[in-house]
Amino acid sequence: MPSSPRLQGKTALITGASRGIGRAVAERFAAEGADVVITHIRDHSISETFIQNLINISHSAGFPGRHLAFEADVADPAAAGATLQRVVAHFGRLDCLINNAGIQAPTPGDDWDDATFARIIDVTLMGAARMSRAALRHFQSRPGGGNIINTSSVHEIIPKPGFLAYSMAKGGLGNLTRTLALEFAASGIRVNAVAPGAVVTDMNASWAQDPEARARVEAHIPLGYAATPEEIAGVFAFLASQDASYITGQTLHACGGLTLFGEFRTNWAS
Ligand code: NAP
Repeated sequence: MPSSPRLQGKTALITGASRGIGRAVAERFAAEGADVVITHIRDHSISETFIQNLINISHSAGFPGRHLAFEADVADPAAAGATLQRVVAHFGRLDCLINNAGIQAPTPGDDWDDATFARIIDVTLMGAARMSRAALRHFQSRPGGGNIINTSSVHEIIPKPGFLAYSMAKGGLGNLTRTLALEFAASGIRVNAVAPGAVVTDMNASWAQDPEARARVEAHIPLGYAATPEEIAGVFAFLASQDASYITGQTLHACGGLTLFGEFRTNWAS
């Protein structure tokens, strides 16, 4: 838990936050004093329980806890503007946008269908671009700058064979981050990304709940284990806070060392 409430008085919007990393980020932001809006695409009853949990977290930390959840598909071109309008109508302003919604499915380079490929790009990359456009317009419409954090992946820089669309989407998020950071730095708007490695969430259900498969995955991670969503959430809180006031245009890899060329742990070349 944080030692000081770094996000008190801030309003944060987190896409795809009913589960996994987004959920942990929402909880961490509530604990640090933020008003949190989460979006998701399925089952509203999840979000009602979720919001009550966020309110409890805020109250335990001494904050009023004004939180909101609603369905919004980031791949819907109309959703970004409507979501921003709803946040501003409810809270008066938005300070921090977290583009977290993302999906993956196999798309081998020589065997993918257009609909699956387009959906992955639309949710994971275009959703972030559209939400950012709406947030940037809002940030510039009032004083105080703003903050955008994209949930990237180690696959922003490490290829993921068999998952072409996901690799392209995460690679694109890197350039979305850097381009917007440069374009809007003079307006006091910071844009960064967090790039997790392997995190225990539903997205990794195929190996996370199977001890043998999980051991195989974890053997590739220099720190030796897959992260909890909570370990990743702290990085978002840091980037959203004044502690990161001089950081923009960066992808911060929270990956247990996966981006350190683990195959070279012992020298095999010379
Ligand atoms: P997850 O547990 O599968 O949760 C995905 C979340 O995204 C859910 O809240 C889901 O909402 C929401 N979502 C899916 N499609 C959406 C859409 N079209 N519009 C709005 N929300 C949508 O995923 P996760 O593992 O936490 O991943 C979150 C982000 O981290 C993704 O961008 C992923 O690429 C990235 N990431 C994950 C890992 C990892 O190891 N887990 C590693 C690197 C990067 P519903 O509950 O309504 O379905």
